[in-house]
Amino acid sequence: MLKYEAFFPADSCAAVVVAAGASSRMGGGEPKQYQTLGGKSVLQWSVETMLQCENIAVVVVVVAPGQKARVAGLLPADDRILLVEGGASRTESVRNGLAALAGRPPTKVLIHDAARPGLSLAVLEELISALDTADAAAPALPMTDAVKSTTTGAVHSIPRDGLVRVQTPQAFRWSAIANAYDNASAAVDDLALVEASGARVVLTPGRPELMKITHAEDLAIVEKLISAPAPHTSAMRIGTGFDVHGFEPGDAVILCGVRIPHTKKLQGHSDADAGWHALTDAILGAAALGDIGDHFPPSDPQWKGANSLVFLKHAVKLAADRGLKVVNADITLLCEKPKIAPHRDAMRVATAEALGIDLSCVSVKATTTEKLGFLGREEGIAAQAVVLLAG
Ligand code: MG
Repeated sequence: MLKYEAFFPADSCAAVVVAAGASSRMGGGEPKQYQTLGGKSVLQWSVETMLQCENIAVVVVVVAPGQKARVAGLLPADDRILLVEGGASRTESVRNGLAALAGRPPTKVLIHDAARPGLSLAVLEELISALDTADAAAPALPMTDAVKSTTTGAVHSIPRDGLVRVQTPQAFRWSAIANAYDNASAAVDDLALVEASGARVVLTPGRPELMKITHAEDLAIVEKLISAPAPHTSAMRIGTGFDVHGFEPGDAVILCGVRIPHTKKLQGHSDADAGWHALTDAILGAAALGDIGDHFPPSDPQWKGANSLVFLKHAVKLAADRGLKVVNADITLLCEKPKIAPHRDAMRVATAEALGIDLSCVSVKATTTEKLGFLGREEGIAAQAVVLLAG
């Protein structure tokens, strides 16, 4: 009995990592899977990422004959790793890897080349969930260069519409791949073996950092790509907002959630809190979700006299639904009167509470326009806001 069988659940996923090649195009020396990249071996990168994936129950690493002890020394001591010897060709090596699983087959299997160390959990999860509705899946990138054919001796162009570059891991429902290798001699890739059988194949997003190390100079390129922050895992978005409300007779204005006694009030359908309206627009702007008028039309009677806290909290929630959180906010209020300074800290507290962030991340400033323009003539109050969202 293979040692992984004890904890291999009935419906689960296994991975086969092929690391048996001799790297003939690397210019001699150490095969690429043993070369050092960012402080560890190329092989270690993929295997460690797979071990982090909760859905992968066992990782079969196919190594060149006689290399088991060496590879065991490179990889973490983990019961989920199974070392298998490969053959003379990649096809033979994959066949051996799959054979190691055949005794108690998983539902899904991923086949990956160790020469693609830039593997991420996101790529694995996208592939595994794609198999819920497909027989096979692989990450692919669009072609961006012009494509030419040289097979006839002359150079001629091939339309690149619909052409993609396919990477690994390539993922399969076990039933789709189990027998495909029985009679296979050589194939372009694992996917090619199931395409002809009418299997439903889907493509998931590829990644530049998942490029294959083929030549010696590729190591430095992959090292750079792996260490660069991945744009799909962290995003920073900035947004601005601006608002103006005119005065009408009254006894107080509401700014940034704080009521300030005054000889006038601000005119508006809601509570006319220009500060929080500008802030709401800044959040919607950073998330590219339109503006406050799109979400709370002034024509809608339900927003008459509304507390602008409702607008602000709604914008925060819409951003959160897209994985974005407010990092900090900076609001500037522009008016001659009332004096803002005595109320500034109360505004910061109310705003920090509404955004659910620390007080130190909220700024409220005030300025006049030196008695110029409509603000100088005390006809109204303007506000502008800048926010940073991060995901
Ligand atoms: Mg407004």
